[in-house]
Amino acid sequence: MIDFEIEPSVVKRVKMFHMVADGVMRPISREYDEKEHVEPEQYFQTMWAANAMAGSSIDAAKKESDAPARNPMRNLYTVITTEELCWGDAGLFLATPNAGLGGAAVMAAGTAEQKERFLSRFRSGQPKWGAMAITEPGFGSDSSQVTTTATREGDDYVLNGTKIFCTGGDRAAKSEGFIVVWATVDRSVGRPGIKPFVVEHGTPGMTVVRTENKLGIRASDTAAIVFDNCRIPKDHLLGSPEVRKEGGFKDVMATFDATRPIVAAMAIGVGRAALDFVRDFLKQQNIQVRYGISPRRLTALERDFMEMEVQLKAARLLTWRAAWMMDVGKHNNLEASMAKAKAGLAVTQITQKAVELLGPLGYSRELLVEKWMRDAKINDIFEGTQQINMLIVARRILGYSSRELN
Ligand SMILES: Cc1cc2nc3c(=O)[nH]c(=O)nc-3n(C[C@H](O)[C@H](O)[C@H](O)COP(=O)(O)OP(=O)(O)OC[C@H]3O[C@@H](n4cnc5c(N)ncnc54)[C@H](O)[C@@H]3O)c2cc1C
Repeated sequence: MIDFEIEPSVVKRVKMFHMVADGVMRPISREYDEKEHVEPEQYFQTMWAANAMAGSSIDAAKKESDAPARNPMRNLYTVITTEELCWGDAGLFLATPNAGLGGAAVMAAGTAEQKERFLSRFRSGQPKWGAMAITEPGFGSDSSQVTTTATREGDDYVLNGTKIFCTGGDRAAKSEGFIVVWATVDRSVGRPGIKPFVVEHGTPGMTVVRTENKLGIRASDTAAIVFDNCRIPKDHLLGSPEVRKEGGFKDVMATFDATRPIVAAMAIGVGRAALDFVRDFLKQQNIQVRYGISPRRLTALERDFMEMEVQLKAARLLTWRAAWMMDVGKHNNLEASMAKAKAGLAVTQITQKAVELLGPLGYSRELLVEKWMRDAKINDIFEGTQQINMLIVARRILGYSSRELN
């Protein structure tokens, strides 16, 4: 049975996250939107110190794998706290020093020993970042098209290829972090040949060649990275080196099943920021939204506002379900895609509607509403676009393979 009763200790934690979102992120939200490539150093130090005090999420994850009963709802709580921080600022959330998507890939594909070896660094020292690179100039949605190669040479693998749009890639390379790079060990076998490799910061042959100028989430760095005879030890391949029919690409999917609910929660945080702002604005204008009356008596504004609320709540419930399923060990591939597709679309529409309802004020850079509209859109693109997630949902419901329905 699904139980969304949240423990008092978690409610307290969520309140703490809200204070960080409101008191630490919001005040610098506009500044680091305007200054895309400037590092918010003070923010990094504050969040890193807070993380160390609270015990990093990776630490919690490790304890979790040691003793699942200790934190049985870890994924559900992660999406709840993600929403809270993205209510503060989604770009800064993505820029926060932690293992990020790289950590998620290590958790999904790595052995217990690799999890400890690669993730323990996020518990001490200076701020650091993890990142994950799948996308290449030749493909985005169809991750089975990986062309970056990993060639075995003695006790090493040698990587060659180019990755683009890697979130946190520049900071991972500049700090004592790492990038998980998906590369093929054998192109002739297709999907099963695709494996994840941890490339440490400062590894010769790995070069960040560019960081993007973006529409939204501008505090987050997005890197293009070239791998030119980049040599890494063989035990940096996450999981088993064996090329099995079920292996390789399955780890890509397992990573997405874990990260799509988090991206959905990011979207919901941005959408809630816009919705809360509109609610407060209407209150200030003495405009009431009348609940519980016949729909035909509602004003257009009331209908719009209620529709925004409904869409946000529906997206949140799907997201919580997808995360909860992971917590109870259920396969959540369908639900993760449902949540991600719904949240990306809902929040794109909610933030656009917020701009529209506020008129010229909504379009002005004096307020953050126009920024939330820009920040929202990425959730409809990365971790599988809305169309790709809908395709996955259709395949799962109708029982088609990716070859049969694409
Ligand atoms: C800011 C940002 C950060 C990112 N961070 C990362 C990261 O950290 N790591 C990483 O590896 N990648 C990252 N990406 C890449 C992102 O995951 C890809 O952009 C995304 O997967 C879409 O791929 P594409 O851009 O090649 O679009 P395409 O695959 O070319 O798609 C273009 C359009 O066609 C649609 N489309 C494609 N195939 C189909 C189909 N079969 N049916 C219907 N419609 C279809 C898509 O939905 C989309 O609307 C990031 C991208 C951005 C913009």
